[in-house]
Amino acid sequence: MFRRTRDREFRDAQRAGQALLAMHTELPLPNTPATDAATAPAAPEAAEVPDFLPPEFRAPSRQDVSGLMMRWDLPLVIDGEVHACHCGAYRNWIVFNMRDDSVWLRCPAGHEAKEERLSTAWYNRNSGPVDHFHPNLEDGLRHLGH
Ligand SMILES: [Zn+2]
Repeated sequence: MFRRTRDREFRDAQRAGQALLAMHTELPLPNTPATDAATAPAAPEAAEVPDFLPPEFRAPSRQDVSGLMMRWDLPLVIDGEVHACHCGAYRNWIVFNMRDDSVWLRCPAGHEAKEERLSTAWYNRNSGPVDHFHPNLEDGLRHLGH
């Protein structure tokens, strides 16, 4: 599921995220909330430049990363039943939501399986805001404790 090309895409997205964070920390805090800035009409000088920010400075969207991942420490109940890996593990999962909308589960022993009963909609309902971008899968797994 995690081919080298996907790793590279993920790494690129990570770099973009880091560039954005670096930019945010270097810019003075705006006086208005970010939501106001986003809805405010573009300044005339900005309108003359089609791509105001180079791609590497744009916030990565879901389409820019290979996938999202989160910890799921509690037993995972799917269709009313506690889901267990073939090795017997039933908690401390890492849940992946891939760009193709598939959801994968990884047990603490490292077994990965696509879970057809879960979807991006389920993932969105159960995940918090994205707070980290990882250069590769291994880094993300380490961050999440696997
Ligand atoms: Zn397992």
